[in-house]
Amino acid sequence: MVDAVVVGAGPNGLAAAVTLARAGLSVEVVERNDTIGGGARTTELTLPGYLHDVCSAVHPMALQSRFFRAFGMERRIELRLPEVQYGHPLDGGRAGIAYQDLDRTADALGVDGRAYRQLMAPLVEQADRVSDFATDALLHVPRHPVTVARFGLRALEQGSRAWNLRFRDDVAPAMISGVAAHSIQHMPSLATAAAALSLGVYAHARGWPVPIGGSQAIVDALAADLVAHGGTIETGREVHSLGDLTPAKAVFFDTSVPSMLRIAGDQLPAPRRGALRHFRFGNAAAKVDFALSEPVPWTNPELHRAGTVHIGGTRAEIAEAEAQVARGQDPDRPYVLGSEPTVVDPSRAPEGGHVFWAYAHVPAGSTVNHQETIIRQIERFAPGFRDTIVATNSRTAQDMEQYNPNYSGGDIAAGAASFWQLVKRPVLSSDPWRMGGGMYLASQSAAPGPGVHGMAGWHAAKSALRHTYGLPVDVDLAPRS
Ligand SMILES: Cc1cc2nc3c(=O)[nH]c(=O)nc-3n(C[C@H](O)[C@H](O)[C@H](O)COP(=O)(O)OP(=O)(O)OC[C@H]3O[C@@H](n4cnc5c(N)ncnc54)[C@H](O)[C@@H]3O)c2cc1C
Repeated sequence: MVDAVVVGAGPNGLAAAVTLARAGLSVEVVERNDTIGGGARTTELTLPGYLHDVCSAVHPMALQSRFFRAFGMERRIELRLPEVQYGHPLDGGRAGIAYQDLDRTADALGVDGRAYRQLMAPLVEQADRVSDFATDALLHVPRHPVTVARFGLRALEQGSRAWNLRFRDDVAPAMISGVAAHSIQHMPSLATAAAALSLGVYAHARGWPVPIGGSQAIVDALAADLVAHGGTIETGREVHSLGDLTPAKAVFFDTSVPSMLRIAGDQLPAPRRGALRHFRFGNAAAKVDFALSEPVPWTNPELHRAGTVHIGGTRAEIAEAEAQVARGQDPDRPYVLGSEPTVVDPSRAPEGGHVFWAYAHVPAGSTVNHQETIIRQIERFAPGFRDTIVATNSRTAQDMEQYNPNYSGGDIAAGAASFWQLVKRPVLSSDPWRMGGGMYLASQSAAPGPGVHGMAGWHAAKSALRHTYGLPVDVDLAPRS
């Protein structure tokens, strides 16, 4: 008998495990893959010496998250900020450039600088309050109602047809839509506006960093702390039922909702099982990793200093590409999220080489190889890109599910990030991690949803400390040495 078993060694599963181990409990983690990390792994996907992030690459949420701040992630690994947090190319060599400095960003936006500053500044000043609210269960009494009201009013504007009213040019709206599109939803909507505002605010607050060595560094730091506090991790073992696990006082699922339902079976209370059957997956991503002989030849010179680039053109073009995906069509000119980590981390490629990470939004279950569409979209803003490609690794939406069953149909958020499903993720409750019967959902399928923030795991562990173990929930997570 152990105190806790965690199914899955992604960032949330490990965040739960670390919190429980730090509380003095015995913890076992079981992972189906041969390597830990789930959506935060780094490996040679193309050629020897080229280190690619298999899933996540850029980590604003790791800097903002209350869990990682308590864990002292910045003291354990190096999270390096590029000079440009994200860039958004437009035709004719123009681009929206998000610097960490809000004023510098606004000044470069010309006629729309003032409008952009007025949209963002009141939230940037309170960025930690924004992230604390955005990474909790949405059904709770906010600690900072004024910040929430400011956020809500702006989300209503950017999530409606009024979204262009404050702007006169096309650069600032394109920039905001490039961030909004992270949530893979039709736009404008409240969900896309919330993504645009929160991630946009983080860019001007703590920034959008890239971990030196890759995203794997984040989960390796979690695993090292877990093991140092008596926890164990077993890889290469898929869990199919509770009978596969060491008996435990509580089980934590870093899995999708259907996987948890299958594994836990009727150990989950019947009303919970009923509510969970309404959980819905969303649309998907198709990814290509590139080994390059030189940096991406962006037409706009500022993009050479960007860690992240949003590729898809104007606000209207991005909205149309996302609408096609929502209708179940594979777009010819998809929205593409790109990252060139070698801009700040040369250790990812042999001398002179670069890596580029890119994924396109596609409909759930798509089997289309999007390598050519992604290359065409990049070529639009970086002519000659094709000639820099040394090797590629391309994965369809279906391949994403093969890699990780949590990504059903290629849904990398393991559950549609629609506004309603962010409110009830996975159930309508102020404690949506607690499933009953000693079961806890600790993955991104629970609040606060997608991203490497560890918050779902942390919340699940804290709920269990209170309800299953009767222990204090304020656990010291800071580095010990
Ligand atoms: C292509 C892509 C790009 C992304 N980019 C970013 C980004 O740049 N920044 C960012 O913050 N986020 C990004 N994300 C999202 C981020 O990776 C996820 O939100 C995060 O990894 C979720 O963590 P998790 O622990 O909930 O789940 P996961 O990371 O999915 O981990 C779950 C783990 O559980 C294991 N598992 C599942 N079922 C079983 C079972 N039955 N038995 C045993 N083990 C099991 C899986 O193998 C996996 O290791 C991206 C995701 C993808 C796929």
